[in-house]
Amino acid sequence: MPNILGVNIDSISMADAVKKANEFFDGKPHTVFTPNPEIILECEKDENLKNIVNSADLNLPDGIGVVIASKILKSSVKDRVSGFDYVCQLLKTGRSFYLFGGKPGIAQKAMDNLIKDGVNVVGCHDGYFEDDSEIVEDIISKNPDILVVCLGAPKQEKWIYKNKDKLNVPISIGAGGSLDVLAGEVQRAPEIYQKLCIEWLYRAVKEPKKRLPRIIKLPIFVKDVITKGKKYI
Ligand code: UDP
Repeated sequence: MPNILGVNIDSISMADAVKKANEFFDGKPHTVFTPNPEIILECEKDENLKNIVNSADLNLPDGIGVVIASKILKSSVKDRVSGFDYVCQLLKTGRSFYLFGGKPGIAQKAMDNLIKDGVNVVGCHDGYFEDDSEIVEDIISKNPDILVVCLGAPKQEKWIYKNKDKLNVPISIGAGGSLDVLAGEVQRAPEIYQKLCIEWLYRAVKEPKKRLPRIIKLPIFVKDVITKGKKYI
């Protein structure tokens, strides 16, 4: 499997990733993560996080940075598969969903929008909590096929890893800001930006305070891939 700075990345197309989701309904809990350059850099510093990310059943190449790193390392990740696009594909599969994360009201708004579109959403909860035991109980009682966890990285990956066996949901996916978009609070970049692989630029212009500190880390990521990437392969 392709490996970027010690983090396993699946070289998979969107169509195959959606097909693979069907294999995850085998009675066991499965996890899908979406490592981007920022998470990979954190994994370099945090061995425990790296083990968590590498424990995923599917690690989607989320972001053009991962594809560029793969090109530098001559590994096989050809195209990005964004976590948000993957969630959107799964929403069309007729499975049941639980939405967890985002500021108070966001998951509920996303749920209302999706139910209007005919998606089977069985429950939701916001992502700001001190004690998550009631949330865990609620998810278990609603028994969804797919749990969308949007707490931001690396909180969502750690939370999923800690709770997946208890929850026993077939698929738990860490999906960042996806609920903000599904709630209609944040606009997805127009298609032209997505096609040109400059969605990050659109987001940087829209939310400079939040995005610029992240973008600044990209050159560090590329430098690490060039100088240290080969030793992990
Ligand atoms: N969030 C949350 N709980 C927290 C911290 C963050 O629910 O304790 C949510 C936040 O409201 C946002 C999402 O996590 O909806 C992170 O979104 P971001 O756009 O940063 O994720 P990205 O898609 O860039 O990884």
